Amino acid sequence: MSARLLPPVSDLTLPYWDAARDEQLVVQFCDRCEHRPFPPRTHCPACGAGDLDWRAVSGTGIVYTFTVAHRAPHPVFADLCPLVIAIVELTEGPRLLSNVVNCDPADVHVGMAVSVRFEAVDGSDIRLPVFVPATSEAGTG
Ligand SMILES: [Zn+2]
Repeated sequence: MSARLLPPVSDLTLPYWDAARDEQLVVQFCDRCEHRPFPPRTHCPACGAGDLDWRAVSGTGIVYTFTVAHRAPHPVFADLCPLVIAIVELTEGPRLLSNVVNCDPADVHVGMAVSVRFEAVDGSDIRLPVFVPATSEAGTG
């Protein structure tokens, strides 16, 4: 458990955070064209359809790009630095801004296989999706 800045939760994003609380990663799928928008949208940016369904995804992906913060961008991150801030491309396609944890930041590289974990946050029932090296733990949780 750690201190974090909490994300704003809206009617649009509530299903994402509800699923994360249950340690499941979900993204929207367009019923018409199979596009998978992220972050959540009211309408599909590819075809304009308004019927986007939330579906569970594997929670696996790769590091698409990343940076390492050595100086905390906010005091709440002070104990987390050096912090790997990464865009993770999920196996299903969407790209999420997250963190890669449980490894030496020097070992993180573009294309690295990762899998999701859910981090408890002090004083909240929110669980933040973060990513760990896919080879660091057995199973995909
Ligand atoms: Zn669509």
